[in-house]
Amino acid sequence: MKFNKEVVRLINQEYSMKELLAQMGVEVHRSMSIFCPFHPNTETKSAKYFEEDNSVYCWGEGRSYRPLDVLRILGIPDEKIIMGLSAAGKLTAENLAAKKEKKDQPVFKNEARAQALKKEYIKGRIDPIEYTKELLTLLS
Ligand SMILES: [Zn+2]
Repeated sequence: MKFNKEVVRLINQEYSMKELLAQMGVEVHRSMSIFCPFHPNTETKSAKYFEEDNSVYCWGEGRSYRPLDVLRILGIPDEKIIMGLSAAGKLTAENLAAKKEKKDQPVFKNEARAQALKKEYIKGRIDPIEYTKELLTLLS
């Protein structure tokens, strides 16, 4: 599955970097400095968690990590990443629209089809996975 820019932004905003770090056994203390969990090192806290950015920067590697990077490192399949957003009620046309650079462009290539799908989903005629997959194919 290839995520478009809006979906990537939504993932990087809605998945908590702090929670992902906790899943990797990394505790963030007040200094926000951490042992980088992405490269082998146990002597220096070479990375820092940035709360406002919801990201981690590692000076040892000279790169930053966003939630999507971490989800991929953890081996979470793209479909599950999307399902997580969907289950949290975050994968909505409104949220995706808010992430678009060109605000005048429609979120979906076929708005009528997206609306029809939503109705089917609400009525329980299609399951969440099917709904999410279909919705993603309609993104413009
Ligand atoms: Zn690192």
